[in-house]
Amino acid sequence: MANDNRSNSNGNNSDPDFKWDPLRFISKKPDEVLKKVDDRLDVLEKEYFSDKKDKEENLPNILEIYGVSRRDFLKWTAFLTSALMLPYIFEPRVARAANILTRTPFIWLDMADCMGNTEGFLRTAHPTPAEIILNYVSVNYMESIMAPAGYQAETRRTETVKKYKGKYILVVEGAIPTGMDGKFLTIGAKGDTGLKITKETAKHAGVIIAVGNCAAYGGIPAANPNPTSAVGLSSVTNRSVINIPACPANPVNLVGTLVEYILIGKAPQLDSLGRPLWAYSGRLHDNCYRRGHFEAGEYVRQWGDDGAKKQYCLYMMGCKGPFTWNNCTTAEYNQDISFPMRAGHGCIGCSQPAFWDRMTPFEKPNADAKIIIPGIEATADEFGVGLFAAAGAGIAAHAIYTGVKKKKEHKKSKNEKNDDSGKNDDNKKE
Ligand code: SF4
Ligand code: SF4
Repeated sequence: MANDNRSNSNGNNSDPDFKWDPLRFISKKPDEVLKKVDDRLDVLEKEYFSDKKDKEENLPNILEIYGVSRRDFLKWTAFLTSALMLPYIFEPRVARAANILTRTPFIWLDMADCMGNTEGFLRTAHPTPAEIILNYVSVNYMESIMAPAGYQAETRRTETVKKYKGKYILVVEGAIPTGMDGKFLTIGAKGDTGLKITKETAKHAGVIIAVGNCAAYGGIPAANPNPTSAVGLSSVTNRSVINIPACPANPVNLVGTLVEYILIGKAPQLDSLGRPLWAYSGRLHDNCYRRGHFEAGEYVRQWGDDGAKKQYCLYMMGCKGPFTWNNCTTAEYNQDISFPMRAGHGCIGCSQPAFWDRMTPFEKPNADAKIIIPGIEATADEFGVGLFAAAGAGIAAHAIYTGVKKKKEHKKSKNEKNDDSGKNDDNKKE
């Protein structure tokens, strides 16, 4: 369920010659860029804060409720600035943008999904600043947490669209069923379809974000045989959509993208699947701490075996890290402490389109080892759907080759040891 309405690898960037540049803010006229950013932040602060005190005390007060000190917040700001690949001079600006974000009007729609993203953001025991900021954004409409119900709730949504036309942030979670004119999903007192509500709300949003794999690419509701004809958000609107896939999405990726939107007033650079390059340009396999074991042909071959204890590579247990682009290994989940491979299970490829159909079975390597493509190393854009199986074959071939080589070496050294011990025995006998 790829992002159908996207024509080039730079997503919604209007400049056709534009190429992704990690140092984008300092490589061209830094003073001019900084002035533009500062002017924009000034305008937004004037709009969303009543006075200087309100502006300065807003976020520190929120963070204090959760016991997050100013020092911890500054550390987080430095982390997010570097995650966004911005120069350090942006740190105070990132802090200002995070403050503004808590006052920017939001509409959060829930479509066909398990609400895992909402749960992930709102229910952490020790939330990070990213999660706290998401808890405190000015949500004008979100079915799962809002007090109004029925007609009152619907009025709230339509009034937010009218009042903040072109300014509100729209976040959609969940796939959109399109079968039977969308009637597989109806919401609210009037029984409008999710399809109708999404289209209407997307029309006037300042920025549109699909959070989680279901909203981005259809996810599990769109898995074969897809009885409700569920699709990702970009298939039902002709507006540009920023996809923040994964199951659930990492709060850092959502907040970072929103902070960049606040800073520059437009979406960050995207890959051909609509994902922000700052977060999704790296392949998990390339940043995995088990990669050395992959190269050395050292694999876990059974849950709980010796390789598992030594944290060997999980490729043979089905890890989809070689086919998956996301920053899980660097941004990490659960209060930034872990990610699947560190916990001992392979990646299931949840930030890729149609992962439920293409990446299963999750605990088996799913490449066809008959085709060998040596040295497959590509970006997500070069690594199109057609190349998936072929590249997988190259990776599988490496795994098989190094695995067999390793086994042979192991056998050889075992034989040599036996020979030696035989000799020793002979010596002893002598
Ligand atoms: S296959 Fe998986 S566990 Fe092995 S190095 Fe790649 S990402 Fe890490
Ligand atoms: S490691 Fe893989 S399965 Fe886990 S969250 Fe990241 S992309 Fe999804």
